[in-house]
Amino acid sequence: MLFNFQNTYNKLPEIFYSKQLPSPVREPKLLYFNTDLAHELNLNIQNQEELTLILSGNKLSSGSEPIAQAYAGHQFGHFTILGDGRAILLGEILDKNQKRKDIQLKGSGKTTFSRGGDGRATLSSVLREYIISESMYALNIPTTRSLAVIGTSDKVFRGDLLASAVLTRVADSHIRVGTFEYFEDTNSLKILADYVIERHYSHIQNTPNKYLELLENIINAQAQLIAKWMNIGFVHGVMNTDNMTISGETIDYGPCAFIDEYNPDTVFSFIDTNGRYSFSNQAGIALWNLSRLAESLLPLFDSEPAKALEQAKEKLYKFSEEFEFYWLNEFRNKLGLQEEIPEDHDLFRSLLDLMHKNKADFTNTFRNLSKFNNIFPEGCETKNADLWLATWRARLKQEKTSPQEQINLMNKHNPVYIPRNHRVEQALLAANQGDFSLFDKLLEIMKKPFSENIIWQEYTELPSENERVKQTFCGT
Ligand code: AMP
Ligand code: MG
Repeated sequence: MLFNFQNTYNKLPEIFYSKQLPSPVREPKLLYFNTDLAHELNLNIQNQEELTLILSGNKLSSGSEPIAQAYAGHQFGHFTILGDGRAILLGEILDKNQKRKDIQLKGSGKTTFSRGGDGRATLSSVLREYIISESMYALNIPTTRSLAVIGTSDKVFRGDLLASAVLTRVADSHIRVGTFEYFEDTNSLKILADYVIERHYSHIQNTPNKYLELLENIINAQAQLIAKWMNIGFVHGVMNTDNMTISGETIDYGPCAFIDEYNPDTVFSFIDTNGRYSFSNQAGIALWNLSRLAESLLPLFDSEPAKALEQAKEKLYKFSEEFEFYWLNEFRNKLGLQEEIPEDHDLFRSLLDLMHKNKADFTNTFRNLSKFNNIFPEGCETKNADLWLATWRARLKQEKTSPQEQINLMNKHNPVYIPRNHRVEQALLAANQGDFSLFDKLLEIMKKPFSENIIWQEYTELPSENERVKQTFCGT
């Protein structure tokens, strides 16, 4: 038995999901299998043939009771009923640490929530999710993970006929802000909230107003997550409420991308014409999404609407403070600092301003700081940079830690490698033509993003003007 399923979500009332078998694919082929993750999940891998059949959706593993989950969401600000239109939850398992994980197939065929869609995913979109989610994991950012990619000989139509694939996604759960938005009746809401508390936030079970505590915990998890995105240069690109998890994991790798030259207004996604989900808007949007969550939960806070609203607001006000706290903390690590002082905020902001003005590469600037190099590209204004460096160095001198400890701290928080957009695009282009060597290489490098290896020097370099990826597409 590959998976030892122990399902709980499908024990909830039937309005939470629809029972749904994956649709078979033609000529399934195991393209990628994440053995490290399989090990963490305690999987019992017998033979590759069976593995391929199960992860393609062509064979049902024993104990699997597949469902498509119901959810709604605000997409670019507009409320819509959604649900798993091309994903099927095979079931839940307990990992090595007895932590419950969802095993989901993505691109596994139509469901009752597919609306006009074909329920399938392109090979490019699946490989993209695989490489970016695994990179995020290696960069220490909470994320859903990718267990396998199954290639098929079925083609999907996206303007052209394209190769398709099925991804196996692993998550703490697939419950989203949009899952709460789906339910209007208080009874279902309560069932969902109780389920979420038991699964994700069991330490608040016995608190006096556990639903308010739940909101507070989710706000905290998201504040931590977005702070991490901001300090690694990650732009999610499509922060709709259905793409925001309750667990605090990054989910749904569509048009996401990492920043090269720092510009806070960066938008990659082709569909994000107004920059709603730009790099610098992410904390604000997270708060907007959490406000939709709070609205959904209102009936559980207090039977008196005005009182419930006041309580919710009080929790939401905490988001900015918490976000700032985590952001400062992580920034301190990036600069090798441990002591907190009131000037931290200005020190960090002025570095970002300098980086913006000088079009400095986000990743390389931070990494080079630990070498105490000149931090900005050659030919850029140096006066202000020198001033900034002097202030920072004076700060480092006042620290209790040794210079070596400071460098170690910085190197643990400033990656050498990120999956740069042009590298991802090159790898996907080649993979679509049957050459997976670039993808393999990127995957290998991204397993150890903090350890410098001279042979991978070119993966730290910025794209040439020809290679530059200015826009990303959902490419679903
Ligand atoms: P996303 O943009 O990936 O967050 O998806 C938004 C909604 O569209 C979700 O309900 C998806 O399940 C659905 N969806 C996306 N692509 C497809 C597809 N090819 N077939 C059916 N539903 C889809
Ligand atoms: Mg989504």
